[in-house]
Parts: sequence; C-alpha cells; structure tokens
Amino acid sequence: MSTPVATTCPYCGVGCGVLARVGEDGAVHVAGDSSHDSKVGRLCVKGAALGETVDLQGRLLHPKMRGENGAFHRTSWDEALDRVAQGFRRIVEQHGSDAVALYVSGQLLTEDYYVANKLAKGYLGTANIDTNSRLCMSSAVAGHKRAFGEDVVPGCYEDLEQAELVVLVGSNTAWCHPVLFQRIAQAKEQGAKLVVIDPRFTATCESAHLHLPIKPGTDVWLFNGLLVFLFQHGVMDAEFVDAHTEDLNAALAAAAADAGDPAHVARICGVQQADVLAFYRLFARHRRTVCLFSQGVNQSSSGTDKVNSIINCHLLTGRIGAPGMGPFSITGQPNAMGGREVGGLANMLAAHMELHEPVHREIVQTFWSSPRIASRPGLKAVALFDAMLEGRVKAVWIIGTNPVVSLPDADRAKRALDACELVVCSDIIERTDTNAHAHVLLPALGWGEKDGTVTNSERRISRQRPFLPAPGEARADWRIICDVARRLGFAQGFAFDSPRDIFVEHARLTAFRNHTPGRDGQPAATRLLNLRGLASLNHQEYDAMRPVQWPVHDDGTGTQRLFTDHHFAHADGRARLIATTARLPVHGTDREYPLVLNTGRVRDQWHTMTRTGKSPRLAGHISEPYVDMHPHDALRSGVREGELARVQSSWGAMVARVRHGGGVLPGNVFVPIHWNDQFASDARVGGLVNPVVDPVSGEPEFKHTPVRVEPFPVR
Ligand code: SF4
Repeated sequence: MSTPVATTCPYCGVGCGVLARVGEDGAVHVAGDSSHDSKVGRLCVKGAALGETVDLQGRLLHPKMRGENGAFHRTSWDEALDRVAQGFRRIVEQHGSDAVALYVSGQLLTEDYYVANKLAKGYLGTANIDTNSRLCMSSAVAGHKRAFGEDVVPGCYEDLEQAELVVLVGSNTAWCHPVLFQRIAQAKEQGAKLVVIDPRFTATCESAHLHLPIKPGTDVWLFNGLLVFLFQHGVMDAEFVDAHTEDLNAALAAAAADAGDPAHVARICGVQQADVLAFYRLFARHRRTVCLFSQGVNQSSSGTDKVNSIINCHLLTGRIGAPGMGPFSITGQPNAMGGREVGGLANMLAAHMELHEPVHREIVQTFWSSPRIASRPGLKAVALFDAMLEGRVKAVWIIGTNPVVSLPDADRAKRALDACELVVCSDIIERTDTNAHAHVLLPALGWGEKDGTVTNSERRISRQRPFLPAPGEARADWRIICDVARRLGFAQGFAFDSPRDIFVEHARLTAFRNHTPGRDGQPAATRLLNLRGLASLNHQEYDAMRPVQWPVHDDGTGTQRLFTDHHFAHADGRARLIATTARLPVHGTDREYPLVLNTGRVRDQWHTMTRTGKSPRLAGHISEPYVDMHPHDALRSGVREGELARVQSSWGAMVARVRHGGGVLPGNVFVPIHWNDQFASDARVGGLVNPVVDPVSGEPEFKHTPVRVEPFPVR
C-alpha cells in the first residue's frame, strides 16, 4: 500500500479532507482525514466510495477530432490544439472577440479557473466565460455583493456548532452536504434548535424541531414578514444598525408592504400561522442564529431577493461577525468559491474585482501585462447558449461540465451547440451528452491525478493532490489552456510550469490589488479576498500547504470569521439592507400543466453521474430516475406507484418511474437532476425546466416549472 496522500473530496462544497492510498493491486482506498480542519475525519457515502470511481472505463484518453464522416478519430495533441487555436483565431478575426466563449465548471481547480479567465478576459478580450456555478450559487454571490459590497461568506462551519438556532432554508443538507449535517445534528444534541424551511419533507426535516413546508417561491414573504416582526417586537440591534448599515427604512417599507401581517404571510406561504409565528419567535429569542441556505433559495427568478431577505434579518439584529451567527450560503460544488475568487463568472474579474469598474480593469490588465481586457460583462450561462443558437457566439470551449444535461431547456442547449462552427470539450469522460455535439475532444486529468487547490463554502483553501499517474495522454486543464494560449500568440502570459506558479500569481494579484492606489489617490479596492500570506510560496511550501481560510495574513494564518469589526466592503464600510419585493415564480400552473416541478439531488449521486454512476454501492440507494409525487396527484394523473410516467412541460418531456414517500406536497413533483441519456433514454430533467432566470444573478428557476404527469406509454 502506498503512503497516504492528503487531498480533498471532489464532490460537494463541504470540502472534506481525504487520505488516499493505492494498494498493490492498484485499488484506491480512501479514508477521512482527521487532521483536515473542515470536518472531523468523516466522509459521507459518496466520499467513501471515491475509490470505486477512479477506474479508466469510459475515460477519454486521447485527443479526438470529428472527421468528414461525422465520426471521432484519434489525433495528436499538436493537431487537436492547432485546430482549437486556429478555430478561435479565425472566428475572433472575422467576427470579433465576443463571437467566442468558454463555459467552465465548479469542478475545475482554482489554477485551471484562473488561466481560463486570464485567457478569455485578458487575451481574447471577451468576458464570455461563464460557469456551471451560475446554475447553483450566483444568486448568493449577487446577494452578498449587494449587502456586504463583496462576495463573501462571513462565517465558518464551527458557527453551526456554536449556534443556539440553525435555520436551513432550501437545503436538503442531510443528503446534499451530509458531513456538515452531522455537525448540525451534533449541535442539536447539545441543545440547538433546528428549523427547516422547504416545500418537501426531506430527510433533513426528520431532525427538525419545526418544519415550514412553504409553497415554492414564497421565501421572500416569509423573511420579509420576519423582518417586520423583529422590528415591531424590538428585536433590533439599533446600535449596530445605526453605526454599520444603510437603507433600513427602505427595506422595512418594502417588507411591510407585502408581508406586514403574519396571517397574510401564512396564507401566501401555505402554512399555519402558528408555525410562522413559532419560527419568528424562535428567531427573535436566539441571538446565536445561523441561516444556512442553498439551491432552494438560489435557483429562483427572485433568488437574489431571497438571499437579501435572509441577510436583512441578520443585519437588523446585528447577528453577523461573531461566533454562532450569520447568513451562510453553502455551495454545491467543490470549487464554486475558488472559481469566484479568480473571476469565474462572466460579470467578474480576478481577485473579486469588477468588470464594470475601469480602475479594476486597469489594475488587472497592468498586472497581467495583457494586450487587452474585456470592456464589459459577458453573457451569463443561459444567455450564452442563446447567443450560440442565434449565431452571435460561434465557437465555445466547454471544460469539465455537461450543459446538455444540466442547463434548463436542455434541448435548446443541444441546438445551440449544433449551431456553432466549433465546439471543443475538455473532459475526463469520452461519451457524454455534451461531447456528442463536439468537434474536438481534449482528454483532461481527473480527481486523484490533478494537482492544485479548491476553496470550500467556509472560504477554506485546500490542496487537491495527485496520487495516480496521468492516464493515456490526459493533461491538466491548466496546461491545455496554456497550450492553446501559446498557439494563439500569448506565450508571455501563459509561461506557467506548474500549478504552484499559477497559484502564486493569483495570490499576488489579490495582494497587489489591495495596495494599488486608484485614480483619486485612494485605495482602488480594499476588499476582503486577500492571499498575501501565500503570495511567495515556493514549490515545497505549496506542496505542503495546509488548509487555510482567506483572508490570509502575511504570516500565513487565515481568518475564521469576517466582519468581526463590523466593517463591510462597501466604500463607506457600511452594509446595506436591501428592499426586496416578494414575487411569485414567473410561470404559474394552469389546467394544462397543473403541477410544480422541483429538481434536486439524491443522496448518493453527483451531478450527471459520470463518476458516481460507476459505483454499484452508490447505485444501491436509488438506481433509476423517478418522479416523486403525492398519491392524490398520481390518482388524478392516472399513474400508479412503480409504473413509468411521462412528465411534460412546455419545454420538453421525460420518462421516469412514479414514487411516493419523498415528502412531496400535493400540487408538486420532484425529479432528481442526475440521470441522462447515457443511462436511460428520455431521462434528462433539464429538458423540461423553464429557462427563466433571476434578473440580477442570471440563475435559472430550477425549482419551479409547471408540468403535467401522464401514463407512459400514453394511453
Ligand atoms: Fe465529499 Fe461532500 Fe461527502 Fe464531504 S460531505 S465526503 S465533501 S460529498
């Protein structure tokens, strides 16, 4: 057995430490790393099965190109990279920088993300680089920026153990972030109260003292009502509000306009008034409160307002910046946070700088010595694929993600790719629904082979370290991107020899930015993301780097909690309460589509199952796509438990087996996101989901699509 290698789990945003070893027979054995700071040496069932998912079956091992006959053939790296570079160069020359795009992933390491953004924004000159993280946490990003002036998660996991009250909003934490849920369960054993706000009665709700099964999309009413209740009952930290916040009156007026009366809130939310009041009283009574929220909040056409309605309640009560309290966005993917640090969204620049700020653009371009810098925000995920369909974007490079399964109105994504002149896919898997539409396939390294860093939901940067050799001709994503950049004539900006070189450049940019005077002589940005203490790591130090939470001080120590001094990142140092207006999801139900489709994860699968789908152990939990619905709705729809049914929306249809018992309320159905055409035909729920997005964040409304369910085959 090899020496254990300390690395990080590649699945959810909890970011558990893993010790991996390779046996004499080549089998990979994993265990929780008790020395990692984000947990106590535990792994959930997905993490524990990692060893079963690293075999080479189905791997893309060589570069491939589609020939004249439409079939892929193996080719050399040189030929494949030339084709990508020539294609991108020709399209930029003929149609301008914004005719090309990259679509990347929260699975990428920070170093990969950094060079991808540098290439797009600083060298190709387009901000048309977005990420699948747009689909899961961009509403939280937008909400943080509005409230705090910067995209930051204020607290840490330990706060969950120190809280007297934990409120889980739109989060099936027990299934989607299991190790974190164990910490919450521990807090509950020590006396903490647990409230769960979710339209479904999920596994998480089984542990709750109070479950509020609100109607989908009504969260803003609930939290605006809480804001008014707290204010009216004198549960306000007036000193904090006066000294450290702005816009209380506007937020209160907006909240009172639609949620001033708990009876009205209860009616709109579809829950008992007594339960609403019980929640409000619990919140009022417990100063040490953490509100942890996830996709049920973010994936909505009013996702950003939902986020701010939660944050408003923390700001009103001054419950932020101290142990056991604060709003807490938990990310879905392992490196959603790291991607944000390096400007991984189409509207951001590296080091939390803003594309719309001329001073920030100047700082980044000067630091990169790049020939140009994107001058305006790029297209967000759904709009990006629309632009492909309309012929405005003609070449796309998709790295480590499967948008034909995961985007809303996913059949439209297929048509969008087919409309492009050049589709390049970097992936570890050869056959995916998306790769079927590519012209060039580039083999990437997977977990266990890659080397770099990820940042989890509590801002903790951890190393992912390799313990397996690169299979076939697969290469690291950062190296592939640099290879293409050099062929495009950008050798100087991409002369990286290792992930350490990239990480150090990224860290230097965060430090450089904090010391750079703006045009008026004032600091251009005095923001919180700061990795100054990591900006001069040598190779050995980078290899040995311990998990650390940013901001990182000069001595290399991290920061557990932000806003302890109540100084926020807006120019005046004050946080903002945001006036949020409650509104229902864009598409309501009607006679033709009488049920609300909600989508989400199951406990033992990950994303589009390209890795977890390999494990028989994980398949043992739930082995096929299903539609969970209330027995009354099943009866009305003419379907029975265990039978196949067709789920139909205005955008598409899928087939799945009917189940009961998943805690779905009458009028709703739940379908998991994971299955796709590689596992079963007509199994992609993304094809049904409406493509409406939040106007601020661009995040799609995955939690609310009107559908009908009918027998299959249709009788
Ligand atoms: Fe991996 Fe998340 Fe499970 Fe931890 S909780 S082992 S990070 S999937």
